[in-house]
Amino acid sequence: MIYADNAATTKLSPHALEVMVETAQTAWGNPSSLYGLGQAAQEALSDARARMAKILGAEAKEIYFTSGGSESDNQAIRSCARLGAAKDKKHIVSTAFEHHAVLHTLKRLEKEGYEVTYLPVHENGIVTAEEVAAAIRPDTCLVTIMFANNEIGTIQPIREIGAVCRAAKVPFHTDAVQAAGHVKIDVKDMNIDLLSLSAHKFHGPRGVGALYCRTGLPLYPLIEGGAQERNRRAGTENLMGIRAMVTALEDMAKDMDKNAAYVQGLRDRLIAGLSAIPHSALNGDRVNRLPGNVNFCFEGIEGLDPSHVLLAIGRPHEVAHGSLRLTLSEENTQAEVDAIIKAVPEIVSYLRGFSPIWQDLEAGRRQHLL
Ligand SMILES: *Cc1c(COP(=O)(O)O)cnc(C)c1O
Repeated sequence: MIYADNAATTKLSPHALEVMVETAQTAWGNPSSLYGLGQAAQEALSDARARMAKILGAEAKEIYFTSGGSESDNQAIRSCARLGAAKDKKHIVSTAFEHHAVLHTLKRLEKEGYEVTYLPVHENGIVTAEEVAAAIRPDTCLVTIMFANNEIGTIQPIREIGAVCRAAKVPFHTDAVQAAGHVKIDVKDMNIDLLSLSAHKFHGPRGVGALYCRTGLPLYPLIEGGAQERNRRAGTENLMGIRAMVTALEDMAKDMDKNAAYVQGLRDRLIAGLSAIPHSALNGDRVNRLPGNVNFCFEGIEGLDPSHVLLAIGRPHEVAHGSLRLTLSEENTQAEVDAIIKAVPEIVSYLRGFSPIWQDLEAGRRQHLL
């Protein structure tokens, strides 16, 4: 088997697994308990928080542990919306190609009386800081724009967007779930007020993530109950998951340059190989993309419902249908990439064989779009 779906999830690293087991065996107390065992767990939790903060360029008290990317996105957005409502500001700026954890939260807020501007995304899968600046209004309570797109891997000009938001005094949240562990993130340098990440996208375990929220910006809880996470997120802490997540993120940060160079080499080989397929096109910017992301459209293939991301970058319906995302990691090899390069053209030809659209294109009854 060749695994090339690392944007969906990644394999738990042996080191992270080791830390999970060790935590379960040695720091299994409840961090809220006042006796020794609980206090040891509390210390392990504080240590994990400080280490995660260091990687992101944040302070420990700005890190909140959550159940993953979806929860972090929901909390960041809902919290800013609530803060905005208190000041009669109910306008939000986002983009048309966010992850559903963001998009569906925004759709819900629209039903609750908020107004959302979904910035269109350029053909290369990037929005500009100027466009964000132009969309901000006096009643804007939040700008939420993803760091790197989960389908086409394009990386947004986060520092510049953050600067625009800072100047306008509007909180800036970024869903960095695809970016964390893969590209450098410094929340202070990049003017980020809130940031979401999820462990299972960088070889940590499923069901654990973090939300960074800048000091001075109030954060409301999504989950009410106990006083965990300084009253911002109730529930007995998933210390096993949290410690494994921090371990995985540290390991990724340590090897980031080496990994990026290696994975990017595989990516570029794969892009070159698949580009040879007639009537195909790479989706998203060729350069400004995650090291492991490859996403192609193949004309004349009838697939599933077209993705909102491909439609947002302007791919027509009939082209967006036939798309393929391959997301590589450090674990992939050149031999695997070569096997993919050999297999995909055969699959594309096979699928085109079934397609009435492809027959029309072949017969000249329809114009090629790619
Ligand atoms: C995977 C992903 C999420 C959701 O994270 P979970 O931890 O699975 O809830 C959110 N945003 C992006 C961009 C993602 O890739």
